[in-house]
Amino acid sequence: MPAAVPHRSGAGSPGHRPADARRPAANPWKIDLRELGRRPGALQELDRTIPAPADWRVELIGVPEGAGVDLHLRLESVMEGVLVTGELDVPVTGSCARCLEPVEDRLSLDVQELFAYEGSTTEATSEEDEVRRVEGDFLDLEPLLRDTVVLSLPLAPVCTENCAGLCVDCGQRLDDLPADHAHEVLDQRWAALTERFATTSSPGTPGENPTPEEN
Ligand SMILES: [Zn+2]
Ligand SMILES: [Zn+2]
Repeated sequence: MPAAVPHRSGAGSPGHRPADARRPAANPWKIDLRELGRRPGALQELDRTIPAPADWRVELIGVPEGAGVDLHLRLESVMEGVLVTGELDVPVTGSCARCLEPVEDRLSLDVQELFAYEGSTTEATSEEDEVRRVEGDFLDLEPLLRDTVVLSLPLAPVCTENCAGLCVDCGQRLDDLPADHAHEVLDQRWAALTERFATTSSPGTPGENPTPEEN
């Protein structure tokens, strides 16, 4: 098996590269892969903090825009592309789905994803949306990390596991109220219910007598 060191057209002639190809700090999520190279086994550690974009959220909770996304990633050059593994750590804020109190948390999430090289077997045998791709000399981490975060956000976040929510009558937070908190209306309703229940329910045995066995 021949050593697979794919030739990259244009790589040896820097004069032909457009000046903006390096995109210095234009997009911090785009990782320049030229430092890593394409020799399988080459490794690059990536420890950095990048401000979160605005859309890393679901309805009730998300990463505040501009909050620091801590990345502890390792890029590894493999035959088919670049394997990204590691961890990301982000703050999330939102509101409790039951009582609407503010919710704050941190998420630490594992990341593992292969970005396929253009022209690799993986890319050729995968549907467009099945595999992430290296784009030229760059790898865009943002869509992967956004998916990782957004898919792990709870649709119904809670302030505490046992949050009792709001009182349906006065709208106050039940956890802030005494345990015997109640309203007249509620009491009357219960009284009416129990009364009706008591008059309509008959304690007799339903059904007919069992048919005797005939032979
Ligand atoms: Zn709550
Ligand atoms: Zn109440």
